[in-house]
Amino acid sequence: MKKFFLIIEDDFELMGNGLGNVASHQYLPTLFLIKVANNLGLKLTFMVDVAQQLVFEKHQHLDVNIKTQKDLWDETVLQIKLNGHDVQLHLHAQWLNCEYKNGYFFMDKNWSIARVEQKTRKKLIKDSINYLTNLLKPIDPDYKVNSFKAGSWALQPSEELFEDFSEAGIEMVMGVRKDMNVSGLGVNYENLDEDTMPYYPNHSDIRKKGKKGDIMILPLSYVYPGWKDMFDLGWTLYKDKRVNKRMLSPFLESNVPKGIRENSPTGEKVRFRLKKNPYLTHLKIGGARSSKYYRNTFDKTIKRLRMEEGNGIPIVVESHTKNFLNNYKDIEQFLDYVVKKYSHEIEFVTMSDYIEKVKDGNLVVKTL
Ligand SMILES: [Zn+2]
Repeated sequence: MKKFFLIIEDDFELMGNGLGNVASHQYLPTLFLIKVANNLGLKLTFMVDVAQQLVFEKHQHLDVNIKTQKDLWDETVLQIKLNGHDVQLHLHAQWLNCEYKNGYFFMDKNWSIARVEQKTRKKLIKDSINYLTNLLKPIDPDYKVNSFKAGSWALQPSEELFEDFSEAGIEMVMGVRKDMNVSGLGVNYENLDEDTMPYYPNHSDIRKKGKKGDIMILPLSYVYPGWKDMFDLGWTLYKDKRVNKRMLSPFLESNVPKGIRENSPTGEKVRFRLKKNPYLTHLKIGGARSSKYYRNTFDKTIKRLRMEEGNGIPIVVESHTKNFLNNYKDIEQFLDYVVKKYSHEIEFVTMSDYIEKVKDGNLVVKTL
């Protein structure tokens, strides 16, 4: 077994405030990512927001444009699976109770699945799993939903959530990251018992290890970019705003009603520190970042994780295809770099592969 398992998980979705179009924000960038992955022999896991798709399905009779996007979503998810990648569950609570008015979806103010009433949440999880199963079983009789990534990383309070996950057969849950703090959603992952390896959680406090059970937490791979990386990031963001005016913005977003943009509770409380490592984040692709920034933060993470004992240490890269626009070249260069530089010590796996390996027994899952 190699030293590391790399899991690239994509949050497959429209923007948090409901803006965007399945064609530009999901279909095209996914096609690109699949092509790059297939060329490099990478395996991907798409965590697909079915809450969004259930809303499109419900409203498809109102507007042919909604129906077209709904069908394109199905087609894209089928293509993901047909290309040998994994499809798992992601949910954004704001699609519940959203309203369709004048051609726009107005999202609910609550963006946390953990704050949804349990009965409603159980139904959403069940409907979503049924949706994926109905879509994918015909092409993969063994298809099963086994993993969940929380929209906006929100998994607190956790007790009822774990009841619902157990009932739904979810085995691996993502969203937790060292010291993450999203106060608008009640998320606080400071003082995690375990920030790197998978662990069995204490169901009443997701930050704590618990007894061996049916659900594991897989933390996102944190990294402290140094000052050089921060300047690089700042410069890339500046260039992105100045030079690369979002290509599709004129027709997608010109007259967006005010309330839509104001609905944005996910701002992470970040503490900058005047130290060698000013800022804490996690490995991600998508958004205005240079391939150099991607490479440096990845190298740093590998260096840190080489200190972990044993083999099969998980590394999670969070991808957001909705933010790939203008970033294609850097992402391709970065993934090419990872494969060429690290293939001797990294095995590229999907979530389902990883769960299989955990179950086969040789991997460490932290417990009380
Ligand atoms: Zn998401």
